[in-house]
Amino acid sequence: MKTTEIIKNKINGHKLNGFTIDDIGDDHLYTGLETPMKRNAFKISDEEKKEKIAILFEEIMDVMGLDLTDDSLRGTPKRVAKMYIDEIFSGLNPKNKPKVALFDNKYQYNQMLVEKNITLYSNCEHHFVPIIGKAHVAYISSGKVIGLSKLNRIVQYYAKRPQVQERLTNQIAEELKTILQTEDVAVIIDAKHLCVSSRGIKDDTSATVTSYYGGAFNSALKINELYNYINN
Ligand SMILES: [Zn+2]
Repeated sequence: MKTTEIIKNKINGHKLNGFTIDDIGDDHLYTGLETPMKRNAFKISDEEKKEKIAILFEEIMDVMGLDLTDDSLRGTPKRVAKMYIDEIFSGLNPKNKPKVALFDNKYQYNQMLVEKNITLYSNCEHHFVPIIGKAHVAYISSGKVIGLSKLNRIVQYYAKRPQVQERLTNQIAEELKTILQTEDVAVIIDAKHLCVSSRGIKDDTSATVTSYYGGAFNSALKINELYNYINN
């Protein structure tokens, strides 16, 4: 069977809960907490991945009829491959996970700590176009604290994957709970999806808000307090 036929069969034959890809259309499904990865995802090196992606992306451009001998386009396949692996999808590789040191809460600060307006750039895994927004994360120390910039880094690590906003929110929350050894964490993401604004339904004003409230944050009082910090 030719590669194109195999791909065609894969796409057409794939059913999710009885629905085909065409039935699902633009609806964004969220299938689980873990980013769906193949078991052998890291069997080949980053360098090999970049080489393969460059070849395949060149083929996409060629199929679309672009002239790859043009000076402006010649370097694009390699640039895209490098950008995918080293930058915008670098969070797929566990080796890029931020190393986070835990410190004792010497100041005995026992109220919520909020890191707000963390710039968030991710990509929708259904369309491979950007998700742009802000993340707000908060925790109440269980006796341990981490450096503030680490909160940023954790958000960035999980954002640099093909994502679904719900999963991104929960992955950040689960990571914070594990590192900080507490259930008392909150994550709010407020983001625009370019797959909604620049194409498809073309709604430029809507935004998607997702949240995770764990432990002590699971109360109207705490959520209120949190929103007061975020909105001021
Ligand atoms: Zn999308």
